[in-house]
Amino acid sequence: SKVLVTGASGFIAIWIVKYLLQNGFSVRGTVRSIEKGKHLQELFKEYRSQFEYIVVGDMAVDGAFDEAVKGVDVIEHTASPFHFHAEDPDDIIKPAIQGTTNILESALNYGTTSLKRVVVLASTACIIEPILEGQKVFSEKDWNRFSLKEIEEKGRGATAAHKYRASKTLAEKAAWNFMKINADKISWDLVTIQPPFVWGPPLQAISSLNSLNTSLVDFYNTITGKMEASPAHIGNWVDVRDVAEAHVKVLTTEEAGGERFIICACEVLRHHLAPFSWQDVLDAVHSGPSEEIFSTVPRGVPGSGKNTLHNVLMDTSKAKDILKFKFTEIEKAVKDTAKSLLSRQW
Ligand code: NDP
Repeated sequence: SKVLVTGASGFIAIWIVKYLLQNGFSVRGTVRSIEKGKHLQELFKEYRSQFEYIVVGDMAVDGAFDEAVKGVDVIEHTASPFHFHAEDPDDIIKPAIQGTTNILESALNYGTTSLKRVVVLASTACIIEPILEGQKVFSEKDWNRFSLKEIEEKGRGATAAHKYRASKTLAEKAAWNFMKINADKISWDLVTIQPPFVWGPPLQAISSLNSLNTSLVDFYNTITGKMEASPAHIGNWVDVRDVAEAHVKVLTTEEAGGERFIICACEVLRHHLAPFSWQDVLDAVHSGPSEEIFSTVPRGVPGSGKNTLHNVLMDTSKAKDILKFKFTEIEKAVKDTAKSLLSRQW
């Protein structure tokens, strides 16, 4: 069957496309330029007959995806701005919401009867809220109200992270709302995938360090010593290949329909797998046999991240029960990511 992947040139999306192709799906990817489409064609040249791209310039324009959705069996919507430099919250919130509602509108108006499922790449940003005291285990039942309140109260003065989190939360809400409002006209279902910080080897074209995707910037700065590795809890993480696998698994799992899935390398009982500090990342780089390529990576204060309180925990039982998920361990994720980044000439 044929899958439309929006934002196919993105860090996570390229891995999704790769996994879909490897699993026998045909893929149509939307990109913002011919140049990006050509990079994908080159990357996936062994799958020539299974892969095509279509240029969708501005996804915020009404009807942007009308052509793209024609004849596909599944839509996986990943395109959304992910950066921390929005001044006006609307600069990031509007395109996120409009991109999401536009793909759903196009699916409703031009999707064919073969369309069975729309998957939206949401985020744990739509779920988590700051926990100042103690710990909380978040699940798919939770919604981030905090960032929305921050935007309402502080507007441009809210932190960039809350602007991004609000954009993801509002876009995901818009998707579920669209399903509710149009329930009598829709024959497909909706699934959302909610990852935390995503690491992994980037496959997209990166012309300079400035264009490195957002979730690898601090990672890169840490392993190159540009940023001091704090032992404090930073957040949760998952390997990009697990996020890609989730996008394949939800297509072959009937009961995934109508569900949100937290895809996070978290073991609630073994806290150290998912909640991480940058010191944990350094420890993971230097774990096991030493490798020449890691010789320049700082060591920090080994082990000092192990005892810091991880206050935001994720319940991943749904992904494990329904999708039979097994998550990549931190050593593999971190080493593969670091190797890929350190072997480049910027
Ligand atoms: P990237 O920045 O690499 O990917 C973002 C994708 O969205 C790119 O394809 C980009 O196109 C496209 N895009 C951004 N803004 C627009 C716009 N206004 N119109 C059309 N397309 C647009 O980051 P990621 O791969 O990390 O992010 C992909 C998705 O995953 C996003 O929805 C993000 O919110 C979500 N996510 C990411 C996490 C992470 O840690 N990486 C964690 C949780 C969720 P182009 O290539 O042309 O710039």
